[in-house]
Amino acid sequence: EETFNRYRESRKISLKLHKEACKYMPGGDTRTATYFEPYPHYIVKGDGAYIYDADGNKLVDFQNNYTSLIHGHNHKPTVEALQEQAALGTAYTAPFEKQTRLAEILINRVPSIDLIRFTNSGTEANMHVLRIARAYTQKSKIIKTEGGYHGTTDVFEASVDPNIKKAGTLDNIKVIPESRGVSRNALKDVLVVPFNDIENTKKVIENNFNDVACLIIEPVMGSAGQIVPTREYLEFLREITKHYGILLIFDEVVTFRLSMGGAQEKYGITPDLTSLGKIIGGGTPIGAFGGKEEIMKMYDPREKKMYHSGTFNGNALGMAGGIATLTAYNQDMVNKVNDLGTKFKTELENVFVELGLDLQVSGTGSLYNIIFSNKSIRNYRDVAGSYEKLNSLLFMSLLLKGVFNAPRGMFCMSTAMSQKDIDFAIEKLRESLLELKPVI
Ligand code: PLP
Repeated sequence: EETFNRYRESRKISLKLHKEACKYMPGGDTRTATYFEPYPHYIVKGDGAYIYDADGNKLVDFQNNYTSLIHGHNHKPTVEALQEQAALGTAYTAPFEKQTRLAEILINRVPSIDLIRFTNSGTEANMHVLRIARAYTQKSKIIKTEGGYHGTTDVFEASVDPNIKKAGTLDNIKVIPESRGVSRNALKDVLVVPFNDIENTKKVIENNFNDVACLIIEPVMGSAGQIVPTREYLEFLREITKHYGILLIFDEVVTFRLSMGGAQEKYGITPDLTSLGKIIGGGTPIGAFGGKEEIMKMYDPREKKMYHSGTFNGNALGMAGGIATLTAYNQDMVNKVNDLGTKFKTELENVFVELGLDLQVSGTGSLYNIIFSNKSIRNYRDVAGSYEKLNSLLFMSLLLKGVFNAPRGMFCMSTAMSQKDIDFAIEKLRESLLELKPVI
């Protein structure tokens, strides 16, 4: 309570702004994930690795708009590209050459993509990737992982953050809607499997392959707590889906940042279809999906098989921002964020040892999560729910010390960070964990 009071004391302008916003929007915002207790802070500007709130506080940003800003804020080449493009127009009802350039960049980088299409969000990319999987296989069911997040649309809002006491056993996972209003009929098409679990995934596939169009996974589970895959599991998925005529989809909306060609390049597994988003738009709203030519060519309007439109698909700002950001996210920069990430993990593990805390850091590359347990992590159930309170206490304590991460314990690095920012965060984590030690 004392921590919350200190927050209230130091965020009075944010409170005023929040109260005003609540008059116009339920809960004061249009993203459920930005809310935290007692009320969210208001940001007035971002610059490089830092954000500045309305109450005059400067914070190191380990959120980066939920991993979507690979270069942090106000990245000069991206800002210039956006400004230049804005003066020339933001969207035209016609194809636009920069769209071809961004498509080319992504196709050259991501092994599984021969042809690509743009959307306005990762959610939308996943909606379409699912539709084309159904169209191509002429089957309708989908397999997803328990704890897997693919956006806010009916089929994907199944078993994202379920109460595991109500979710059945690992060999018979119950599909649980994440939100009220999710169509029960849509959920009939969803089968849920545990991540990294060959035996139980195999069972579900063998019992249902005649009806299953695709299996979608985040190659590294993000919102579930940065859970890394075993290579064996990914290899198994590749083989079994191929064998049974099920399309393997990698949702790389977040994991694309892990290497020049995403997690599929890092782990050496090529899916049939891939969805992208977040960093590929240079900080503007974007999504994309692509895959084998044979599948994606169904979108060619001359084939008259698939319809996909969207007023802002491939809009000029997104394309210009994406090109600038990805051109700057070269191999050196990939190495830079991954090295900063490795240092963060190693230094934090040293703090755990120093303080005698049995905690761990999950994740890889530039994506990490603090896990309040020492048990080995294979899937959602190994990290689910139980440590929410500790994560939010740690989050609030760090916020008061100038470090902004995600309330559920996620930290992601940007190329705008330096070793100094990592050292600062580690020192603040050390102080916060010491304060929290009596309750951990
Ligand atoms: N897929 C994954 C793995 C994500 O983490 C997210 C967003 O966090 C999405 C899809 C949805 O993307 P968007 O928020 O752009 O709709």
